[in-house]
Amino acid sequence: MNILLTGGCGYIGSHVAVVLMSAGHQVFIVDDLSNSRRDVVGNIAEIAGRSPAFYEGDVGDVAFVRDIFRRHQIEAVIHLAGFKSVGESVQWPLKYYQNNICGSLGLFQAMEAESVSKLVFSSSATIYGDPQYLPVDEAHPQHVTNAYGRSKLHIEDMLRDISASRPSLGVVCLRYFNPVGAHDSGLIGEYPRGIPNNLMPYVVQVASGKREVLSVFGGDYPTPDGTGVRDFIHVMDLAEGHLAALNFLSSNKGWHAFNLGTGRGFSVLEMIRAFEKESGRTVPFRMAARREGDVACSYADVQSAERALKWKATRVLEDMCSSAWLFQNRLSTKD
Ligand code: NAD
Ligand code: UDP
Repeated sequence: MNILLTGGCGYIGSHVAVVLMSAGHQVFIVDDLSNSRRDVVGNIAEIAGRSPAFYEGDVGDVAFVRDIFRRHQIEAVIHLAGFKSVGESVQWPLKYYQNNICGSLGLFQAMEAESVSKLVFSSSATIYGDPQYLPVDEAHPQHVTNAYGRSKLHIEDMLRDISASRPSLGVVCLRYFNPVGAHDSGLIGEYPRGIPNNLMPYVVQVASGKREVLSVFGGDYPTPDGTGVRDFIHVMDLAEGHLAALNFLSSNKGWHAFNLGTGRGFSVLEMIRAFEKESGRTVPFRMAARREGDVACSYADVQSAERALKWKATRVLEDMCSSAWLFQNRLSTKD
Protein backbone atom coordinates (compact mmCIF):
# COMPACT_ATOMS: atom_id res chain seq x y z
CA MET A 1 0.00 0.00 0.00
CA ASN A 2 1.21 3.57 -0.65
CA ILE A 3 1.26 5.36 2.70
CA LEU A 4 1.91 9.00 3.53
CA LEU A 5 3.81 9.22 6.82
CA THR A 6 3.91 12.70 8.31
CA GLY A 7 6.72 13.40 10.78
CA GLY A 8 8.56 10.36 9.44
CA CYS A 9 12.02 11.76 10.17
CA GLY A 10 11.21 12.14 13.86
CA TYR A 11 11.80 9.77 16.74
CA ILE A 12 8.64 7.68 16.49
CA GLY A 13 8.07 8.26 12.76
CA SER A 14 11.44 6.80 11.74
CA HIS A 15 10.59 3.57 13.58
CA VAL A 16 7.11 3.50 12.02
CA ALA A 17 8.74 3.90 8.58
CA VAL A 18 10.97 0.89 9.19
CA VAL A 19 8.06 -1.27 10.37
CA LEU A 20 5.82 -0.30 7.42
CA MET A 21 8.58 -0.90 4.89
CA SER A 22 9.47 -4.25 6.42
CA ALA A 23 5.82 -5.22 5.95
CA GLY A 24 6.14 -4.42 2.23
CA HIS A 25 4.45 -1.00 2.13
CA GLN A 26 5.65 2.00 0.09
CA VAL A 27 6.34 4.91 2.43
CA PHE A 28 6.20 8.59 1.47
CA ILE A 29 7.51 10.79 4.26
CA VAL A 30 6.47 14.42 4.68
CA ASP A 31 8.53 16.28 7.26
CA ASP A 32 9.57 19.91 7.56
CA LEU A 33 12.65 18.92 9.59
CA SER A 34 11.67 21.40 12.31
CA ASN A 35 12.68 18.79 14.90
CA SER A 36 14.64 16.21 12.94
CA ARG A 37 17.44 15.66 10.46
CA ARG A 38 17.41 14.69 6.81
CA ASP A 39 20.08 12.00 7.31
CA VAL A 40 17.46 9.94 9.18
CA VAL A 41 16.08 9.01 5.73
CA GLY A 42 19.42 7.31 4.93
CA ASN A 43 19.39 5.47 8.23
CA ILE A 44 15.84 4.21 7.61
CA ALA A 45 17.01 3.02 4.16
CA GLU A 46 19.98 1.22 5.69
CA ILE A 47 17.71 -0.75 8.01
CA ALA A 48 14.89 -1.37 5.53
CA GLY A 49 17.14 -2.18 2.56
CA ARG A 50 15.43 0.46 0.40
CA SER A 51 14.69 4.14 0.74
CA PRO A 52 11.40 5.76 1.62
CA ALA A 53 10.40 8.71 -0.59
CA PHE A 54 11.00 12.00 1.21
CA TYR A 55 9.25 15.34 0.76
CA GLU A 56 10.44 18.28 2.84
CA GLY A 57 7.52 20.56 3.69
CA ASP A 58 4.67 21.50 5.95
CA VAL A 59 1.88 19.00 6.46
CA GLY A 60 -0.60 21.89 6.65
CA ASP A 61 0.22 23.02 3.09
CA VAL A 62 -2.89 21.71 1.32
CA ALA A 63 -1.66 22.12 -2.29
CA PHE A 64 1.69 20.47 -1.49
CA VAL A 65 0.06 17.48 0.23
CA ARG A 66 -2.68 17.10 -2.42
CA ASP A 67 -0.01 16.92 -5.06
CA ILE A 68 1.72 14.03 -3.25
CA PHE A 69 -1.61 12.23 -2.82
CA ARG A 70 -2.33 12.52 -6.55
CA ARG A 71 1.11 11.63 -7.80
CA HIS A 72 1.45 8.49 -5.73
CA GLN A 73 -2.14 7.26 -5.32
CA ILE A 74 -1.80 7.39 -1.55
CA GLU A 75 -4.31 5.10 0.19
CA ALA A 76 -3.59 5.79 3.85
CA VAL A 77 -2.05 8.45 6.08
CA ILE A 78 -0.16 7.98 9.32
CA HIS A 79 -0.03 11.40 10.93
CA LEU A 80 2.68 12.04 13.49
CA ALA A 81 3.92 15.49 12.52
CA GLY A 82 3.59 18.02 15.30
CA PHE A 83 5.28 19.72 18.21
CA LYS A 84 5.41 17.76 21.45
CA SER A 85 6.88 19.72 24.33
CA VAL A 86 4.40 20.33 27.15
CA GLY A 87 6.53 23.08 28.73
CA GLU A 88 7.01 24.92 25.45
CA SER A 89 3.28 24.68 24.73
CA VAL A 90 2.52 26.43 28.02
CA GLN A 91 4.86 29.25 27.05
CA TRP A 92 3.87 29.44 23.37
CA PRO A 93 0.32 28.09 23.03
CA LEU A 94 -0.29 29.79 19.67
CA LYS A 95 2.73 28.04 18.19
CA TYR A 96 1.15 24.71 19.22
CA TYR A 97 -2.33 25.55 17.99
CA GLN A 98 -0.89 26.78 14.68
CA ASN A 99 1.36 23.83 13.98
CA ASN A 100 -0.57 20.95 15.51
CA ILE A 101 -4.17 21.99 14.92
CA CYS A 102 -3.88 24.08 11.73
CA GLY A 103 -1.32 21.64 10.32
CA SER A 104 -3.71 18.72 10.89
CA LEU A 105 -6.61 20.70 9.46
CA GLY A 106 -4.70 21.28 6.21
CA LEU A 107 -3.84 17.59 6.01
CA PHE A 108 -7.47 16.54 6.56
CA GLN A 109 -8.65 19.00 3.89
CA ALA A 110 -6.15 17.52 1.45
CA MET A 111 -7.34 14.01 2.35
CA GLU A 112 -10.96 14.95 1.74
CA ALA A 113 -10.16 16.66 -1.57
CA GLU A 114 -8.29 13.59 -2.83
CA SER A 115 -10.62 11.00 -1.25
CA VAL A 116 -7.99 9.41 0.97
CA SER A 117 -10.03 7.46 3.48
CA LYS A 118 -7.71 5.83 6.03
CA LEU A 119 -5.95 7.71 8.82
CA VAL A 120 -3.92 6.73 11.87
CA PHE A 121 -3.27 9.66 14.22
CA SER A 122 -0.70 9.92 17.02
CA SER A 123 -2.52 11.05 20.12
CA SER A 124 -1.32 10.89 23.70
CA ALA A 125 -2.24 9.57 27.12
CA THR A 126 -1.79 13.15 28.30
CA ILE A 127 -5.45 13.74 27.30
CA TYR A 128 -6.55 11.68 30.34
CA GLY A 129 -4.93 14.07 32.83
CA ASP A 130 -4.51 12.83 36.41
CA PRO A 131 -5.82 9.24 36.38
CA GLN A 132 -9.04 8.80 38.34
CA TYR A 133 -8.58 5.02 38.25
CA LEU A 134 -5.95 2.56 37.05
CA PRO A 135 -5.30 1.09 34.59
CA VAL A 136 -6.49 3.94 32.37
CA ASP A 137 -8.89 2.70 29.71
CA GLU A 138 -10.11 4.55 26.63
CA ALA A 139 -13.36 5.56 28.37
CA HIS A 140 -11.45 7.40 31.12
CA PRO A 141 -12.62 11.04 31.43
CA GLN A 142 -10.51 13.49 29.49
CA HIS A 143 -8.84 16.39 31.21
CA VAL A 144 -6.16 18.48 29.56
CA THR A 145 -4.11 21.06 31.38
CA ASN A 146 -1.86 22.50 28.69
CA ALA A 147 -1.89 23.62 25.05
CA TYR A 148 -0.09 20.49 23.84
CA GLY A 149 -2.70 18.20 25.38
CA ARG A 150 -5.50 20.44 24.16
CA SER A 151 -4.14 20.29 20.61
CA LYS A 152 -4.23 16.47 20.71
CA LEU A 153 -7.74 16.38 22.13
CA HIS A 154 -8.96 18.94 19.63
CA ILE A 155 -7.56 16.94 16.71
CA GLU A 156 -9.22 13.77 18.04
CA ASP A 157 -12.51 15.67 18.26
CA MET A 158 -12.14 17.12 14.77
CA LEU A 159 -11.59 13.61 13.46
CA ARG A 160 -14.70 12.40 15.29
CA ASP A 161 -16.77 15.08 13.53
CA ILE A 162 -15.19 14.45 10.15
CA SER A 163 -15.71 10.70 10.30
CA ALA A 164 -19.33 11.14 11.45
CA SER A 165 -19.93 13.17 8.28
CA ARG A 166 -18.02 10.79 5.94
CA PRO A 167 -19.03 7.14 6.44
CA SER A 168 -16.31 5.97 4.03
CA LEU A 169 -13.59 7.26 6.38
CA GLY A 170 -11.70 5.04 8.84
CA VAL A 171 -9.79 6.77 11.66
CA VAL A 172 -7.70 5.32 14.47
CA CYS A 173 -6.36 7.60 17.21
CA LEU A 174 -3.50 5.92 19.04
CA ARG A 175 -2.99 7.22 22.57
CA TYR A 176 0.66 6.64 23.35
CA PHE A 177 1.86 6.17 26.92
CA ASN A 178 5.65 6.64 27.37
CA PRO A 179 7.62 5.62 24.27
CA VAL A 180 11.31 4.93 24.94
CA GLY A 181 14.22 2.96 23.45
CA ALA A 182 15.41 2.63 19.87
CA HIS A 183 15.69 0.25 16.94
CA ASP A 184 18.10 -2.56 17.82
CA SER A 185 20.48 -1.60 15.00
CA GLY A 186 21.26 1.60 16.94
CA LEU A 187 20.81 3.53 13.67
CA ILE A 188 17.65 5.42 14.61
CA GLY A 189 16.47 6.68 17.98
CA GLU A 190 15.64 9.82 19.89
CA TYR A 191 17.75 12.96 19.31
CA PRO A 192 16.62 15.41 21.97
CA ARG A 193 17.53 19.02 21.27
CA GLY A 194 19.00 20.90 24.21
CA ILE A 195 18.23 19.70 27.73
CA PRO A 196 15.97 16.63 27.58
CA ASN A 197 12.58 16.97 29.27
CA ASN A 198 11.86 13.27 29.40
CA LEU A 199 13.31 10.71 31.76
CA MET A 200 14.97 8.22 29.39
CA PRO A 201 16.95 10.68 27.25
CA TYR A 202 18.10 12.44 30.43
CA VAL A 203 19.22 9.13 31.98
CA VAL A 204 21.09 8.25 28.78
CA GLN A 205 22.93 11.58 28.79
CA VAL A 206 23.90 11.22 32.45
CA ALA A 207 25.17 7.68 31.85
CA SER A 208 27.26 8.89 28.90
CA GLY A 209 28.78 11.70 30.96
CA LYS A 210 27.14 14.48 28.95
CA ARG A 211 25.20 15.56 32.05
CA GLU A 212 26.32 15.28 35.64
CA VAL A 213 23.32 14.18 37.61
CA LEU A 214 19.68 13.27 37.13
CA SER A 215 17.07 15.06 39.21
CA VAL A 216 14.36 12.64 40.30
CA PHE A 217 11.23 14.76 40.41
CA GLY A 218 9.43 13.71 43.58
CA GLY A 219 10.22 10.96 46.09
CA ASP A 220 7.04 11.36 48.08
CA TYR A 221 4.37 10.10 45.70
CA PRO A 222 1.95 7.44 46.98
CA THR A 223 3.79 4.76 44.95
CA PRO A 224 5.81 1.76 46.26
CA ASP A 225 9.16 3.62 46.24
CA GLY A 226 7.80 7.19 46.30
CA THR A 227 8.83 8.04 42.71
CA GLY A 228 6.54 8.47 39.70
CA VAL A 229 5.30 5.38 37.88
CA ARG A 230 4.84 5.28 34.09
CA ASP A 231 3.92 2.81 31.38
CA PHE A 232 7.14 2.82 29.34
CA ILE A 233 6.66 1.21 25.94
CA HIS A 234 9.43 0.22 23.52
CA VAL A 235 9.26 2.45 20.44
CA MET A 236 9.37 -0.63 18.17
CA ASP A 237 6.31 -2.10 19.90
CA LEU A 238 4.64 1.28 19.47
CA ALA A 239 5.62 1.39 15.78
CA GLU A 240 4.18 -2.09 15.26
CA GLY A 241 0.95 -0.79 16.79
CA HIS A 242 0.65 1.57 13.78
CA LEU A 243 0.90 -1.32 11.35
CA ALA A 244 -1.76 -3.16 13.36
CA ALA A 245 -3.99 -0.06 13.23
CA LEU A 246 -3.56 0.15 9.47
CA ASN A 247 -4.53 -3.51 9.10
CA PHE A 248 -7.55 -2.85 11.33
CA LEU A 249 -8.64 -0.12 8.90
CA SER A 250 -8.71 -2.58 6.01
CA SER A 251 -11.94 -3.95 7.48
CA ASN A 252 -13.20 -1.16 9.78
CA LYS A 253 -14.53 2.33 9.19
CA GLY A 254 -15.57 5.07 11.60
CA TRP A 255 -13.66 6.67 14.48
CA HIS A 256 -11.70 4.55 17.00
CA ALA A 257 -9.23 5.25 19.81
CA PHE A 258 -6.81 2.78 21.39
CA ASN A 259 -4.22 3.01 24.13
CA LEU A 260 -0.72 1.88 23.21
CA GLY A 261 1.20 0.86 26.30
CA THR A 262 2.36 -2.33 28.00
CA GLY A 263 -0.24 -2.28 30.76
CA ARG A 264 2.53 -2.23 33.39
CA GLY A 265 4.04 0.62 35.32
CA PHE A 266 7.68 1.07 36.35
CA SER A 267 8.95 3.70 38.73
CA VAL A 268 11.66 6.24 38.00
CA LEU A 269 14.02 4.39 40.35
CA GLU A 270 13.26 1.05 38.68
CA MET A 271 14.05 2.63 35.33
CA ILE A 272 17.37 4.00 36.63
CA ARG A 273 18.36 0.60 38.04
CA ALA A 274 17.45 -1.25 34.85
CA PHE A 275 19.43 1.27 32.81
CA GLU A 276 22.48 0.94 35.03
CA LYS A 277 22.38 -2.83 34.65
CA GLU A 278 22.05 -2.75 30.86
CA SER A 279 24.67 -0.04 30.28
CA GLY A 280 27.15 -1.04 32.95
CA ARG A 281 27.30 2.64 33.91
CA THR A 282 26.30 4.42 37.08
CA VAL A 283 23.55 7.02 36.83
CA PRO A 284 24.10 9.55 39.63
CA PHE A 285 20.82 11.04 40.78
CA ARG A 286 19.48 13.30 43.47
CA MET A 287 15.97 13.58 44.80
CA ALA A 288 14.29 16.85 43.81
CA ALA A 289 10.91 18.50 44.25
CA ARG A 290 7.93 17.23 42.29
CA ARG A 291 7.65 18.64 38.76
CA GLU A 292 4.57 20.79 38.30
CA GLY A 293 1.80 19.06 36.42
CA ASP A 294 3.19 15.52 36.95
CA VAL A 295 0.91 12.70 38.05
CA ALA A 296 1.95 10.01 40.53
CA CYS A 297 1.11 6.98 38.49
CA SER A 298 -0.15 6.21 35.01
CA TYR A 299 -0.43 2.98 33.08
CA ALA A 300 -2.68 1.77 30.34
CA ASP A 301 -5.49 -0.68 30.03
CA VAL A 302 -4.41 -2.29 26.76
CA GLN A 303 -7.15 -4.90 26.41
CA SER A 304 -8.98 -2.96 23.76
CA ALA A 305 -5.89 -2.60 21.53
CA GLU A 306 -4.98 -6.23 22.06
CA ARG A 307 -8.46 -7.41 21.12
CA ALA A 308 -9.26 -5.10 18.21
CA LEU A 309 -5.80 -4.59 16.72
CA LYS A 310 -4.49 -8.07 17.54
CA TRP A 311 -1.38 -6.32 18.80
CA LYS A 312 0.53 -6.62 22.06
CA ALA A 313 3.76 -5.05 23.33
CA THR A 314 6.36 -7.81 23.70
CA ARG A 315 9.60 -6.02 24.58
CA VAL A 316 10.64 -5.55 28.21
CA LEU A 317 12.28 -2.72 30.17
CA GLU A 318 15.75 -4.21 29.64
CA ASP A 319 15.27 -4.06 25.83
CA MET A 320 14.18 -0.42 26.11
CA CYS A 321 17.32 0.49 28.11
CA SER A 322 19.83 -1.51 26.05
CA SER A 323 18.58 -0.16 22.72
CA ALA A 324 18.56 3.45 23.96
CA TRP A 325 22.13 2.96 25.17
CA LEU A 326 23.25 1.42 21.87
CA PHE A 327 21.80 4.38 19.97
CA GLN A 328 23.59 6.84 22.27
CA ASN A 329 26.90 5.01 21.73
CA ARG A 330 26.54 5.09 17.96
CA LEU A 331 25.78 8.81 18.16
CA SER A 332 28.86 9.41 20.33
CA THR A 333 31.14 7.60 17.88
CA LYS A 334 29.75 9.73 15.02
CA ASP A 335 30.28 13.03 16.87
P1 NAD B 1 9.50 14.27 16.95
O1 NAD B 1 9.59 15.72 17.20
O2 NAD B 1 10.75 13.47 17.03
O3 NAD B 1 8.84 14.01 15.51
C1 NAD B 1 7.86 14.86 14.97
C2 NAD B 1 8.30 15.15 13.53
O4 NAD B 1 7.31 16.01 12.92
C3 NAD B 1 9.64 15.88 13.44
O5 NAD B 1 10.46 15.19 12.50
C4 NAD B 1 9.28 17.28 12.95
O6 NAD B 1 10.30 17.82 12.13
C5 NAD B 1 8.00 17.02 12.18
N1 NAD B 1 7.07 18.15 12.08
C6 NAD B 1 6.62 18.96 13.07
N2 NAD B 1 5.72 19.84 12.58
C7 NAD B 1 5.59 19.59 11.26
C8 NAD B 1 4.83 20.14 10.20
N3 NAD B 1 3.98 21.17 10.41
N4 NAD B 1 4.94 19.63 8.96
C9 NAD B 1 5.79 18.59 8.71
N5 NAD B 1 6.55 18.02 9.67
C10 NAD B 1 6.45 18.51 10.92
O7 NAD B 1 8.40 13.68 17.93
P2 NAD B 1 8.03 12.16 18.25
O8 NAD B 1 8.45 11.86 19.63
O9 NAD B 1 8.48 11.28 17.15
O10 NAD B 1 6.45 12.29 18.26
C11 NAD B 1 5.67 12.03 17.11
C12 NAD B 1 4.21 12.32 17.43
O11 NAD B 1 3.82 11.51 18.52
C13 NAD B 1 3.95 13.77 17.84
O12 NAD B 1 2.74 14.18 17.25
C14 NAD B 1 3.83 13.69 19.33
O13 NAD B 1 2.99 14.69 19.84
C15 NAD B 1 3.23 12.31 19.52
N6 NAD B 1 3.52 11.75 20.85
C16 NAD B 1 4.82 11.60 21.24
C17 NAD B 1 5.11 11.10 22.51
C18 NAD B 1 6.54 10.93 22.98
O14 NAD B 1 6.76 10.71 24.17
N7 NAD B 1 7.55 11.02 22.12
C19 NAD B 1 4.05 10.74 23.38
C20 NAD B 1 2.75 10.90 22.94
C21 NAD B 1 2.50 11.40 21.66
N1 UDP C 1 11.38 12.48 35.54
C1 UDP C 1 12.39 12.69 36.46
N2 UDP C 1 13.49 13.40 36.06
C2 UDP C 1 13.63 13.89 34.79
C3 UDP C 1 12.57 13.67 33.86
C4 UDP C 1 11.46 12.97 34.29
O1 UDP C 1 12.32 12.27 37.61
O2 UDP C 1 14.64 14.54 34.47
C5 UDP C 1 10.20 11.70 35.98
C6 UDP C 1 8.89 12.47 35.86
O3 UDP C 1 8.68 13.24 37.05
C7 UDP C 1 7.88 11.32 35.69
C8 UDP C 1 8.68 10.27 34.91
O4 UDP C 1 10.05 10.59 35.12
O5 UDP C 1 7.53 10.78 36.96
C9 UDP C 1 8.39 10.28 33.42
O6 UDP C 1 8.54 11.59 32.94
P1 UDP C 1 8.60 11.92 31.38
O7 UDP C 1 8.81 13.40 31.23
O8 UDP C 1 9.59 11.02 30.70
O9 UDP C 1 7.16 11.50 30.86
P2 UDP C 1 5.70 12.05 31.23
O10 UDP C 1 5.83 13.11 32.25
O11 UDP C 1 5.19 12.56 29.93
O12 UDP C 1 4.95 10.86 31.71
